[in-house]
Amino acid sequence: MTTKIGFIGLGIMGRGMAHNLLKAGFDLTVWNRTLSKTDEFVETGAGVAESPSDLASRCDIILICVSDTPDVQQVILGEDGVIESIKPGALVIDHSTISPQVTQQIAARLAEKDAHMLDAPISGGSEGAANGTLSIMVGGEADQFERAMPYLQAEGKTITHVGDHGAGQLVKLVNQILVVVTQLGVSEALLLAQAGGLDLGKTLDAVKGGAAGSWMLSNRGPQMLQRDWRPGFTIDLQQKDLRLVLEAADELGIPALGTSLVFNLYRTLQARGLGSEGNHALVKALEHISGIEVGGDK
Ligand code: NAP
Repeated sequence: MTTKIGFIGLGIMGRGMAHNLLKAGFDLTVWNRTLSKTDEFVETGAGVAESPSDLASRCDIILICVSDTPDVQQVILGEDGVIESIKPGALVIDHSTISPQVTQQIAARLAEKDAHMLDAPISGGSEGAANGTLSIMVGGEADQFERAMPYLQAEGKTITHVGDHGAGQLVKLVNQILVVVTQLGVSEALLLAQAGGLDLGKTLDAVKGGAAGSWMLSNRGPQMLQRDWRPGFTIDLQQKDLRLVLEAADELGIPALGTSLVFNLYRTLQARGLGSEGNHALVKALEHISGIEVGGDK
């Protein structure tokens, strides 16, 4: 019998991943809080569930990609949540970035129903979700990781089992330190280039293939030069991740100087009402301090 899979959360990331699961030929049912986002899936042959609980009653594999820790708790443990009708032996794969500790608690609650969970947060931006090239860092039991592989391979390219429940989320926090500190570097570098009167496009071309190259520089650098602040990842969600990094650093007693700095710079942008812009709008915080604007038509 065909394995039935379900996807909860068709936002910027979930949308691309769900489309790639359909393209790979899986029997997919979707659910999204805002129903209209399911329309394009109905057109391409997916079923639509009435609630997370309804979806769980129909599926053996349940993938989730919603915003924050309370949202994952809501769709799994809340009213009409997955746990109300999950089948014994079913597997929940959570792609959201959330608290490692809460992940462990949810896995324990699902285990009481003889169901399994993997934390499988993702990296690679909206482009990676659309193109099926995400990096996926997975925590949980090794046999469930093997079971999840066909679905994860439809969504991503670099798929790594990093440890037990919660370990995937902790690796994602490591990833987020690298993302934001790199973003700060890209912002500071472009500000210097602008102040020095350089051709910014040529500057990017000159440095992106060398030791200074990064995903952020290649993908978000050109967007910054165009002053295109549409989000691949919003500042508000980025701040959610930095809060998780700072909480983990506090618990583990390690300094997180770069992360704290970027967290506070983003906070100034949120205070200016820019929380729904892309995380590359970090440069606006430096522009505000320096009085110099990067890129645009000038
Ligand atoms: P998004 O576009 O804002 O989508 C969020 C999704 O979660 C929407 O489908 C939303 O439903 C749903 N949702 C939020 N709260 C909910 C709740 N309480 N109950 C039910 N559904 C709820 O966000 P995204 O960029 O796709 O990010 C999703 C997750 O992936 C986050 O944990 C984020 O940190 C992570 N992530 C994002 C990126 C990126 O580049 N964007 C990269 C890596 C990881 P509605 O449609 O009803 O609002």
